[in-house]
Amino acid sequence: MNRLREWIGNNSKYLRSMKLWLFGVIVIIGMVPCIILSKILPRAYASRAIEVRISDVTNQLHIISDHLITSSFMQVGSSEVIEAELSQLSNLYDGRILIIDAGLKIIKDTYSISQNKFIISPEVIRGLRGETISSYNDEDGYIEIVVPIVETLTDQDGESIQNVRGVMLTSVATDTIASTTERLRDVSDLVTYLVAIFVVVFAYLMSMVLTRPLKKLNAAISDVKEGYTSDPVMIRDYLETERISDAFNAVFSRMKLLDDSRQEFVSNVSHELKTPMTSMKVLADSLLGDESTPPELYREFMEDITREIDRENKIISDLLSLVKMDKTSAELNITQVDVNALIELVLKRLRPIARKKDVELEFVSMREVVASVDEVKISQIITNLVDNAIKYNKEQGWVTVTLDADHQYFTMEVKDSGMGIPEDSLNHIYERFYRVDKSHSREIGGTGLGLAITRSAILMHRGTITVESTPGEGTIFTVRIPLVYIVE
Ligand code: ADP
Repeated sequence: MNRLREWIGNNSKYLRSMKLWLFGVIVIIGMVPCIILSKILPRAYASRAIEVRISDVTNQLHIISDHLITSSFMQVGSSEVIEAELSQLSNLYDGRILIIDAGLKIIKDTYSISQNKFIISPEVIRGLRGETISSYNDEDGYIEIVVPIVETLTDQDGESIQNVRGVMLTSVATDTIASTTERLRDVSDLVTYLVAIFVVVFAYLMSMVLTRPLKKLNAAISDVKEGYTSDPVMIRDYLETERISDAFNAVFSRMKLLDDSRQEFVSNVSHELKTPMTSMKVLADSLLGDESTPPELYREFMEDITREIDRENKIISDLLSLVKMDKTSAELNITQVDVNALIELVLKRLRPIARKKDVELEFVSMREVVASVDEVKISQIITNLVDNAIKYNKEQGWVTVTLDADHQYFTMEVKDSGMGIPEDSLNHIYERFYRVDKSHSREIGGTGLGLAITRSAILMHRGTITVESTPGEGTIFTVRIPLVYIVE
């Protein structure tokens, strides 16, 4: 038992093979009916043949029993016709016939062994009562039949009376039936072996043919995996293989897309980080190259270098926030946050910048909102949107932040009187490093990462962000975030 378990453990890989299962199923389906038939057929033939034999012999005995009465054999004890009939019957069926009178005396034995002896057996007694009995002895292969010898008399009233004068006890051999059954058994065994060979070969071929598309699919996927080809996988032999091919192609093209966007991101990052470096290098080189630089110019160049360092710092810290948020498992630090107070705080921090640009900041609160959110991330969302609204505004412009809520969500709307966003850029503003006007954005210190960070933070809260903009008039960003964070 342990050995079997160990063997199954070692070969479990092969036992899960579809080819093996198909082979097994076809062999079982093909062989079981054949084996059942080969066992049932000879047995059915034997029992039917015995039934027929019993009925034939019983009929013959009934005829002879009539002749026994008409020829007065029971009184006289001999008759040539009867003798001939009895010997014909016993020869035909290789049987022995005893004629027993009502006094249980054997008056005729076709084997001449028990003549004139007496016999008592339950069957004989039942026969003398008028019953016809037949039985088959399986072990010896003999049929035993008891037929009453009945004389029909008529009494004074004209009614007929049945008078049992004796019985005929017959045993008949079934050797011929047995030998035919044996032959039948041999033939059906031979047929079973032939069918078995055919079924095994057929099952082997079918299991090969039926699993071929899976093998093809595996090879095609392996080719893509090893990088031999980037052609789409398409095995149409079965609907199932077609679906697997489609699913694989979808996954593969998504992976390619991810890989492309990763490469693009890396090249963008390198480029963005290199730009301030190049400016610093140019500034430093020109200072080093000219020894007689006046102190004012020196100072101005150093200020420029500091600005570039700040820029580099901002890009790096923005990148770090983005990477942190890109992790799907990024944890939110959910607490009960007074959103009104939070917006007030952010606006207070941004007011000096707004004042510098002569932009008016206004907060309109429709109601008090307390939500279960990550305070730092919500603050980052508001800061980025309001910061953009100030940065891309005009002189003496305005920015209005409106807060409202229903029973499920709170809504923050950041509306500005700025330059607006052209329609064809609206779909791209959330992309990393995307800027509508690269040089202008850089001038005012943009990295192109702000909205990407904002969107990630909103999605983490299972919220949405939408934008409406009219170039030259202004932009409205609307953020909707659930009041309660639902953990999945
Ligand atoms: P940046 O750091 O350059 O501001 P963002 O990701 O925050 O990057 O924004 C992407 C681009 O979307 C900006 O460069 C700007 O062109 C445009 N944009 C964002 N907010 C506004 C706004 N309120 N008004 C006009 N343009 C905007």
